[in-house]
Amino acid sequence: MAVIRFKALEQVFDRKPLHVTPPSDKTSDYYAINVFDRAKMQKYLARDAYNHVVDAMEKGTPIDRRKADSVAAGMKAWATERGVTHYTHWFQPLTGGTAEKHDAFMHPTSNGVVVETFSGSALAQQEPDASSFPSGGIRNTFEARGYTAWDPTSPAFIIDNTLSIPTIFISYTGEALDHKAPLLKALNAVDKAATEVCQFFDKNVTRVNANLGWEQEYFLIDEALYYARPDLVLTGRTLMGHASPKDQQLDDHYFGSIPERVMAFMHDLEAEAYKLGIPVKTRHNEVAPNQYELAPVFEECNLAVDHNVLLMDLMTKVSRHHGFRVLFHEKPFKGINGSGKHNNWSLSTDTGVILHSPGKNPKSNLQFLTFVVNTVKTVFDHQDLLRASITSASNAHRLGANEAPPAILSCFLGSEVSAMLNQLEEQVTNKKMTPDEKTALKLNIGKIPEILLDNTDRNRTSPFAFTGNRFEFRAVGGTCNPAIPMTILNAALAKQLIEFKSEVDALIEKDVKKDEAIFQVLREYIIASKAIRFEGDNYSDDWVKEAAKRGLTNITDVPEALSAYLSDKSKKLFFDLGIFSEVELEGRVEVMFEQYTLKIQIEARVLGDLAMNHVVPTAVKYQNRLMENVLGLKEICGEEYKTLAGNRIELIKEISGHVTAIKNGVNEMVEARKMANRIDDEKEKSKAYSKIIAPFLDKIRYHIDKLELIVDHEIWPLPKYRELLFSS
Ligand code: ADP
Ligand code: MG
Repeated sequence: MAVIRFKALEQVFDRKPLHVTPPSDKTSDYYAINVFDRAKMQKYLARDAYNHVVDAMEKGTPIDRRKADSVAAGMKAWATERGVTHYTHWFQPLTGGTAEKHDAFMHPTSNGVVVETFSGSALAQQEPDASSFPSGGIRNTFEARGYTAWDPTSPAFIIDNTLSIPTIFISYTGEALDHKAPLLKALNAVDKAATEVCQFFDKNVTRVNANLGWEQEYFLIDEALYYARPDLVLTGRTLMGHASPKDQQLDDHYFGSIPERVMAFMHDLEAEAYKLGIPVKTRHNEVAPNQYELAPVFEECNLAVDHNVLLMDLMTKVSRHHGFRVLFHEKPFKGINGSGKHNNWSLSTDTGVILHSPGKNPKSNLQFLTFVVNTVKTVFDHQDLLRASITSASNAHRLGANEAPPAILSCFLGSEVSAMLNQLEEQVTNKKMTPDEKTALKLNIGKIPEILLDNTDRNRTSPFAFTGNRFEFRAVGGTCNPAIPMTILNAALAKQLIEFKSEVDALIEKDVKKDEAIFQVLREYIIASKAIRFEGDNYSDDWVKEAAKRGLTNITDVPEALSAYLSDKSKKLFFDLGIFSEVELEGRVEVMFEQYTLKIQIEARVLGDLAMNHVVPTAVKYQNRLMENVLGLKEICGEEYKTLAGNRIELIKEISGHVTAIKNGVNEMVEARKMANRIDDEKEKSKAYSKIIAPFLDKIRYHIDKLELIVDHEIWPLPKYRELLFSS
């Protein structure tokens, strides 16, 4: 019987691209057909119900119960016309991913007749049992029940025959148990704080939105090969595998022509995304073989986050129709580029101005500089918390590895903006400025080109780069729910803007002119946060040394990085703005420690199993064949066998060496796990997993990868890197 690896490869050779026909040739014909957007609301809702929902969306006013009934009736009418039979509250629990529990519209009446019902209260609230979702002890202290509550700012949509209603998920006592609730709070905080700061420049601004345009990187692996790799199935990454002689050295995959089978998948995916109103725009090959990227046009942050998690789900589903499995893991293959999710982020006003984009005149450019400098100060002050927001067991393989941003946070601004900040630093003084000095300064500020977007230099190595009209937070990982870094970034900026406003106001109180007060405070920030600005190569060893000299932190250990959530500075930020209560914060961080431990535990178990029941038996089988060969030579050739079989005897010994090392490694790892599992405190346990268990994964793998090179190709059970990476 052929080994499973060869059976899988046979299936790959037989695959043909699937022919996909979109609902119409023109995207605009069917775009958002499955979304209860404003156009459909207008059609299916009474005027007052429509206005009520629009107010809730734009001003955050609460939904009135009676109006909710009317909205629910309209939604049901629309949905049933499209063949929908069920509804669900769709939410984002702390496990990652999304969750849903479906209920039918169907309702039996007393006379045996069945009707379709969907009430306002069913729209507004559902009560899934919270006890099986992680809460970090909140559910032990309080009740097991949880509520989901409708988020009217993100429109309902249809998947298959189910109406999905985006919701937040909270405990019986009101603690957030999801990623959306804190995000909405942070977005609200930054809206308020930024709107106030905008008043210095333009009284017409009444609302500020955060925008997010994410770029999702991913790998596509043939499904048959995927199933022949239990490590991929169970952990999302390969825990073993020798490097392929050729992988990405030649850079021949990046922006290369897209293979037909992959293209068919992309067409199919895009059609599904368009039906759901997800504005996917860009697709291309990435650096690594079998790696791709997908990016939509940016949207309001809450909606963009929903669209990202929804699309990840969709990608998994659609990939299966095409005989692929999609990998979001930040580092599925050792030594090969991993997958990130750049978060392109900016603020914009309801007057249509992007606050992170230069304007047309000195006034709007001073506003632009105000937001840039405050952003840089935010990254400097909260570098540890920002790192914590993107840290995970999987992203740890990418941060600090050579193709990705290091675990040091820094900001790249480009030469134009840097020069402007340097000028502000030099020219502004704490004394009253002369009119000439002020005019000169304003003149310079006015000279910032309006369109930096096309002519800013790009620095691809920076974890947080200004790119002309936005910042790109590049350290975010492929699996990450972008709600997490977006909550932290927007909350931290909100706090910074509140401080800025009060410092400027204090100077104005002392009769300093407004512009001058703004200059002075900005100058202080520029000086205070200088260490975080870096224009050079973030991947170089020199930068690691330089950053240490500057006092920037560089924390690669996951539990240690996560601890930043609990620092006094972070707590003050969360509690002052009401993003998390103490109970919520502690619960949430406990979940993060626990998730880390569980991920490493699963990897350790999978590696242990595969090592002992796939690799060692195969190596021993091959070793036996070698021994037979040596004994046969001895029988036939007598003492001459020693010369004739010399290198086979070496191989036999080499195999024994690796097999022994693997067995010892696995045994020691199991013992270490037993010790670690006795630790009750989640933080301490995760530290043990990070410091003691995780290193075994690499140690054991080393010997397995060596065996892969020696053992007969015909009997090696697991698909090799060169097979996994070149199969589309
Ligand atoms: P890159 O040049 O980095 O490949 P693109 O120009 O394709 O990136 O844009 C990447 C993402 O950034 C897209 O989702 C795009 O819509 C988004 N984007 C562009 N401008 C902004 C902005 N001002 N704020 C937020 N996101 C933006
Ligand atoms: Mg980009």
